[in-house]
Amino acid sequence: MTAEIICVGTEILLGNIVNTNAAYLSERLASLGISVFFETTVGDNPQRLEEVIHTGLKRSDILILSGGLGPTKDDLTKEIAAKACGQKLIQDEKALKKLKDYFAETKRPMTENNLKQAMVPEDCTVLYNDNGTAPGMILHASEGKKVVLLPGPPAELIPMFHNQVEPILKKLQPGILYSKVVKIDCMGESAVETEILDLIEKQTNPTVAPYAKTGEVHLRVTAKAETEEEAKELVKPTVEELKRRFGYKIYTTESDVTLEEVVVETLAKRNYTIAAAESCTAGLFTGRLVNVAGASDVLNESFITYANEAKMKYLGVKEETLKTVGAVSEQTARQMAEGVTKTAGSDVGVGITGLAGPGGETEEKKAGLVYIGVSIHGVTKVNKYQLKGNRQKVREAAVSRAMTMVRLALKEENEK
Ligand code: ATP
Repeated sequence: MTAEIICVGTEILLGNIVNTNAAYLSERLASLGISVFFETTVGDNPQRLEEVIHTGLKRSDILILSGGLGPTKDDLTKEIAAKACGQKLIQDEKALKKLKDYFAETKRPMTENNLKQAMVPEDCTVLYNDNGTAPGMILHASEGKKVVLLPGPPAELIPMFHNQVEPILKKLQPGILYSKVVKIDCMGESAVETEILDLIEKQTNPTVAPYAKTGEVHLRVTAKAETEEEAKELVKPTVEELKRRFGYKIYTTESDVTLEEVVVETLAKRNYTIAAAESCTAGLFTGRLVNVAGASDVLNESFITYANEAKMKYLGVKEETLKTVGAVSEQTARQMAEGVTKTAGSDVGVGITGLAGPGGETEEKKAGLVYIGVSIHGVTKVNKYQLKGNRQKVREAAVSRAMTMVRLALKEENEK
């Protein structure tokens, strides 16, 4: 079964609002195993909207439209969709009652134009709206095709789709898609892909799809089957094979687990505390740790030591080091990592120093050069990175590298 998403609204075309409905619907349809081949945004224009619906009906089984169901003149999705499917609009008594109740409850007068929201195409399933006034609907078009109309506000669209549309689509579409995500944090995308070319080339069910995020590569393994149990069984051998190939480079195989969660959880399990001394990242690393609920179990304090004076004052970085090799150096990162464990009395110390750019570059030190030190109970490791991208990207990538270094340092210490 194929679906097509059509988002209606001139404000989306103008860039005034971000089309989050399309992203949500695409993601949900994919997980239901329904292929989405087209996604269109069209303004509040009757001719163009009708054209888009006609085109969609020719090439897709299900059209899902968002927006334009409200009471105002420019809300014309329902009228045009009914016309395109050759249907008349009739009054739905339950929708009318809900509409009147809604205004009575909110103690607002109901203007005449609201009544149009109780009109529905003659052959449709009405999706009553618990979070707003405009009901959604599923039009039953010719050849068994469906045209689903949903209100634009995400707070209305999401519960309506989840609670009312998904169960119907599940019945129409036999089988489900099940995915597992293998997350790798210490290899680049092309290197990962090279290692699994054979798997990608022979893939049918499950499929393996790599995609890159800052500092990470995710491999989504997806299987299609009649039941979830069957799909899980299909996914298992491929995930095992990926674990065999990538080993410690994988930090999780759970789609909702983040790298910082793994780090915080590992620290908490060992009753360790962590402190960071951040120069170019200026708090981003600590901020990412604090994304994790429960970070307070492992974090008491961190330092933003941007200027050389601060590095000396709070971390005991030697003046001579700063004078001879500079703030962006292996030695400074080491002294920052070791210094912060002393100052904070923590088990783990992280020191991040680098040139985020633009500007401040020299012949030897280009923008993107970052040194990261990680110290655990006196054992310190420093890595040098030449990161790519603009200032923000370099800072975010440095944080990811630091997070990975902490994960691996904790792992190594455990193996000793
Ligand atoms: P209403 O009854 O509120 O008028 P509607 O179904 O007519 O709802 P629109 O008027 O098209 O929907 O959009 C209402 C609001 O919903 C927009 O101003 C916007 O905030 C949000 N919205 C609409 N479409 C999208 C979209 N594709 N993605 C995210 N938000 C959207």
